[in-house]
Amino acid sequence: MSALLENYARADVTFVRGSGCYLFDENGTPFLDLIAGIAVCALGHAHPEIAKAVAEQASTLVHTSNLYHHEPAGTLAQELARRSGMRVFFCNSGTEANEAAIKLARKFAYRNGFPERSTVVACTGSFHGRTYGALAATANVSYREGFGPLPEGFRFTPFNDVSALDTAIDDETAAFIVEPVQGESGVNPATRAFLERARALCDERGALLVFDEVQCGMGRLGKLFAFEHFGVRPDIVTLSKALGNGLPIGAMLASEGCAPGLRAGDHGSTFGGSPVPAAAALAHLRLRDELDLDAHVAARSRTLFAELTALAREFPEVFDAPRGLGLLAALPVREPLRASDVAAALRAQRVLVGTAGGNALRFAPPLIISDNQLREGAAALRTVLKALTPA
Ligand SMILES: *Cc1c(COP(=O)(O)O)cnc(C)c1O
Repeated sequence: MSALLENYARADVTFVRGSGCYLFDENGTPFLDLIAGIAVCALGHAHPEIAKAVAEQASTLVHTSNLYHHEPAGTLAQELARRSGMRVFFCNSGTEANEAAIKLARKFAYRNGFPERSTVVACTGSFHGRTYGALAATANVSYREGFGPLPEGFRFTPFNDVSALDTAIDDETAAFIVEPVQGESGVNPATRAFLERARALCDERGALLVFDEVQCGMGRLGKLFAFEHFGVRPDIVTLSKALGNGLPIGAMLASEGCAPGLRAGDHGSTFGGSPVPAAAALAHLRLRDELDLDAHVAARSRTLFAELTALAREFPEVFDAPRGLGLLAALPVREPLRASDVAAALRAQRVLVGTAGGNALRFAPPLIISDNQLREGAAALRTVLKALTPA
């Protein structure tokens, strides 16, 4: 594969087909997928209803640009607005949704007569994307190193440190951006107290509260939006990953109060919310309701955490206690073992997991997964661990 840049450390496996919670390689060998394309394929691979919606849309209308209205984006926006009480801007990815949030927050302050209110405050451990604005709000230096100079006006405050927020959010803060559950840096949930304090300080100081739900939204925590889980309402929510169940689409949802920050011509995207991805996302939302997915996720989450907790107890020299919420979990691996080596050994057992910061295995299975499939994954991990740690 020397034609591709080497910016990814791809595993040596080629998938040709997917179905439900399984991916199939060239030999037709099934792999149980517990990472779902990095928290993307919430309804599993090649869901027939989504495939049908995509095929119908692809043979009806594929692209108009945002110069005109079209039905899929209009209906999808209505569905998201009905569920969130917010207005919708479409883009193509998570990083773009965060760019839109940063731009809206700054322009909102500017329009309201506070041009100096331009700072974006983010958290230690944050990951918001790879483009320059989102990267400037991403704390981990390994993503930033060598890419400077980065945009100005970004600050960091310690994640989950309630008292530090008081000085971090000030009169010059345009937005405070936070992942309700930090994904890339190791699946660390925010505390409710932290998010509540952030809400109160943003209100007091005129800043917008932005929840980056790109990874933890779209039902992964057992509610459509992560903010519903925490009971704290942000001004802006960013979505992408699972929204199109595999088709590229992102969204920024903005409250009625701050949505007028962006006006005609202020921001845009050629493809944003284009008909085929929008049709996929619309089918996804409709199927979620039919499947009663929230109850399913709550039940499967109990199984996942019971299995991971049991593994951590069985192999205390290898694992620390699991972290996470809903169907987003990390199992921290103890040195000298590397999470990436455990993931590779699991792949040899035909089970796919991710890794996350802090030397952890990451689990973000399709939300439709069954208890038996979760137990199958845990059994494979047990087999791998027995081989890696001979008694
Ligand atoms: C993946 C991710 C992003 C970036 O999304 P892309 O679609 O890769 O640009 C942003 N924020 C969070 C929390 C993510 O998990």
